[in-house]
Amino acid sequence: MVLAASGDDNVYKSDREQSLAKTAVAQMGECNVVPTPENFELFYAFASGEHPGVTQVMAAMIANKNPFTPKILADLRLRCLSGARAARSMDNVGTGMSQVIDTVMVKLEAAARQTSAYTSTLSAATGELDASQSPDDMRKLVEELIAATKAMESRTRSLEGELQKSSEQVTELRGKLDDVRKESLTDPLTNIANRKAFDAAMETAMLALGEGESVALMMCDIDHFKKFNDSWGHQTGDQVLRLVASCLSDNLKGRDTAARYGGEEFGVILRGTSLTDAIHVADQIRLAVQGRKLVKKSTGDVLGTITISIGVSEFTAGDTIESIIRRADACLYGAKQNGRNMVLGQNDPRMASQISSAA
Ligand code: GH3
Ligand code: MG
Ligand code: MG
Repeated sequence: MVLAASGDDNVYKSDREQSLAKTAVAQMGECNVVPTPENFELFYAFASGEHPGVTQVMAAMIANKNPFTPKILADLRLRCLSGARAARSMDNVGTGMSQVIDTVMVKLEAAARQTSAYTSTLSAATGELDASQSPDDMRKLVEELIAATKAMESRTRSLEGELQKSSEQVTELRGKLDDVRKESLTDPLTNIANRKAFDAAMETAMLALGEGESVALMMCDIDHFKKFNDSWGHQTGDQVLRLVASCLSDNLKGRDTAARYGGEEFGVILRGTSLTDAIHVADQIRLAVQGRKLVKKSTGDVLGTITISIGVSEFTAGDTIESIIRRADACLYGAKQNGRNMVLGQNDPRMASQISSAA
């Protein structure tokens, strides 16, 4: 077989894109979704499978023939397209920064030119002073020097004003950059940290570990969530995700990081916390979730309660990020196996065999 040249690669790529676009349009039709550009972007992302969270929810909705209401579409777009929006905002801030820097550079160059002209005026005056001067000439020379100095003073003042304005613009842009950074680290559905922020916090926790600090990790998963979604719909399921996130935030302190790890799984990093203390906090969270009565917002229907299972591990010598996550996951699996609505730590006797195989 002849190897494809790069031109052929482009043909293959555009073939794939055309086929994804056709699938997206067909799917929008089947789901009775208005073909707006935003909805197309969403269904295109679904067809490409490039956004696992959205793919999972949309696939379940299509399989269950749940209607794509405007509210659901808006919510899905928020999750799917927020990354692209953050990237666009980042570009805008970057362009703003470059424009301010360019303006400042132009002004500084002009100021340097004017300063050098002023210096020439002063040098020329020095030369004239050397030659013998009449009182009238001296007065004229002094007047010229005063005028040149005043002009220089006024230019300096105006430059100060311009630089002050530029510095305010930079402060404003820095604020925008902070907002964009926060947005890129936040899960739009639950408003807690996203997976990217979780990964970064794990790296930081690993460094702290090198300084002798203890670090524990919780992996939490909602029990029988699929059944809940099937019974009450994904939108109500999303409400549950927000509720679990708020129970996590309510029961954690300053340096802990609660993040949406994936679909209906949450990861919590507890800095400076022993395994025993982390298990205690995990149980408080479990009880808080169990204690919240669920009410369907749109109808006021009482939906009962939901429960979560939590696996807890702690960093031990020789651990990597992967191995501590694997151990917390094994504990979570153990909690599911042992009846759910349960917290299981890596020191639990029921975990003895699994932990050694997960290590
Ligand atoms: P288990 O107790 O064993 O954890 O059972 P489960 O049904 O919770 O577990 P499973 O992993 O089989 O199902 C997870 C479900 O979570 C599948 C999907 O419908 C749901 N899910 C994942 N992400 C989202 C989301 O963003 N929103 C909603 N509403 N549901 C989601
Ligand atoms: Mg799960
Ligand atoms: Mg689950």
